[in-house]
Amino acid sequence: MPEYREKRLLAANSGLKTGFGGLAMHIMSYLQKVYRELHAQPELSAQEAQTAAFVAAELKEMGFTVTTGVGGHGVVGVFPLVGSGPTLALRCDMDALPVSEETGADFASQNPGVMHACGHDSHMAMVLGACRYAVANEERLRGTLMAIFQPSEEVGMGARSMLEAGVFSRLKPFRLVGIHNWPDLPAGTLGLQSGPITASTDQFKAVLRGVGGHGARPHQTRDTIAMAAAAVQNAFTLAQRRADPASPQVLSFGAIRGGTSFNIIPEQVVLEGTVRTVRSEDQALMIRLLHQAFKAAADLHGGSYELMYEEGVPAVVNDPAVTAEIAGFFAARIPDIPVVSEGLASLIGEDVGCFLQEVPGILLFIGSGQEGAVNELHNPRFLVPCQTLVTGYKALTSIIAGYLSK
Ligand SMILES: [Zn+2]
Ligand SMILES: [Zn+2]
Repeated sequence: MPEYREKRLLAANSGLKTGFGGLAMHIMSYLQKVYRELHAQPELSAQEAQTAAFVAAELKEMGFTVTTGVGGHGVVGVFPLVGSGPTLALRCDMDALPVSEETGADFASQNPGVMHACGHDSHMAMVLGACRYAVANEERLRGTLMAIFQPSEEVGMGARSMLEAGVFSRLKPFRLVGIHNWPDLPAGTLGLQSGPITASTDQFKAVLRGVGGHGARPHQTRDTIAMAAAAVQNAFTLAQRRADPASPQVLSFGAIRGGTSFNIIPEQVVLEGTVRTVRSEDQALMIRLLHQAFKAAADLHGGSYELMYEEGVPAVVNDPAVTAEIAGFFAARIPDIPVVSEGLASLIGEDVGCFLQEVPGILLFIGSGQEGAVNELHNPRFLVPCQTLVTGYKALTSIIAGYLSK
């Protein structure tokens, strides 16, 4: 056993073996230390080299077998426990955002213009803390713990690239738990809801083509501005009238580009937007409706259209059976922590959905809201409170104990 495990982990052990009521100071200070160190050195999506080196070093010191460079800067730690049993995967994300930090914290970003404004630093701290728990309690556990640190979550690429790199080719977990801090829930609470909780996040780009000309002589043009206006109206009307109101979906335009001057009708107008759906049949319907909207607009004004539709990350659908199992672990092991189990769904995207298409599991929300603080992800003044680290640690360790106890 490496010295680290003998000394520091056995110290953590004493506080943990008695249960989860009181948390050992060692663990609290470890969670804080990791959170602050990572917060100070944020790296953008696909550039998480230092962050990956940090988590890989921590995992190695704990005795994990570590693979780096999995689908970019992805890191996978595997810890086989004493005695055969299932493999449980914990997944967190490593990337930060192009935001200039304004928290004024003494551990604020040292990397100008880059900030952990989505709290991925806290996710890494919680998962590393949970890994320490598994090592410290290895005599009581069986099976294998797999810790996945994925890059590029903010751009929806990391999970897919790790899967393409064969993250599960040698060892496929039977359950996967992803985490995200959630400011809509107060710190000290958890959010665990069965079924869809995020949406597929697709984007589209449409090009409308006509014949340009003088604004005073529209009859000699094929007016692309008129086409664009009609296309937007058509798309909104169709989405509102043809999609099932009982199933969540939304279509929005985010950009319209065309024209150079007030009196010139342009040859081409480009429109871009996003479609969010939860069910694949709604996604297919929205694609059909967009074609219909653009074709009708182009036909009306004698032009043509081209639609490019790109499917993004899939919706996160929490497995009902796994949700029930984990709710059971929470009730038995951390009954004092309130668990919110409804009203958590939104149409944001989270690429843990890619992993959850391969392995039954959930995305668990760890409450990070606090009164009087900025409770908005991606805000330059957003910080994750200490209580969230502790609650997340307790949740993850109770899941480890629930699935992997002898
Ligand atoms: Zn984010
Ligand atoms: Zn995030």
